[in-house]
Amino acid sequence: MGRILIRFNEEQVSEPITAQIIIEYKVPMAILAAHVNSKGGEILVEIPDESQEEIVNAFRKRGVIVTVPKLIEVDAEKCFSCGSCVALCPVEAISLDKDCTVRFDKEKCVGSTCSICVDACPARAIKSIKHNGDRSANSRVKRN
Ligand code: SF4
Ligand code: SF4
Repeated sequence: MGRILIRFNEEQVSEPITAQIIIEYKVPMAILAAHVNSKGGEILVEIPDESQEEIVNAFRKRGVIVTVPKLIEVDAEKCFSCGSCVALCPVEAISLDKDCTVRFDKEKCVGSTCSICVDACPARAIKSIKHNGDRSANSRVKRN
């Protein structure tokens, strides 16, 4: 499964574009996060890898901006294991081990649609990164 970030402008947000594409292409799409209001917004969706190109093109043909979402990276040198990111993450994508190791779960993170941990970290130890498509392993950082 792959994730794409779909951005709607003010005009597009009131149209049933996503529903039309699901019906037309018969592709299941799981909405992982949505930040939408009358001015526009973005949704993060998960779709089968084999359908990604077709679905991205379908949105783009309708003038919708589609990008690959960013995930995050924790700098072990800066992290002092305060736990703020753990407490604030809405999907429990970050946890602290008993030895104060920060564990980040790429499968759960909703990336740039959220970024709560990036803003909350007092040490500026977390940054957004481009999603490289490799979600086979979770990252783990340890305090020095
Ligand atoms: S990454 Fe930042 S917010 Fe998270 S435990 Fe480390 S210092 Fe605290
Ligand atoms: S970006 Fe959001 S979902 Fe991802 S780890 Fe940070 S707080 Fe959790």
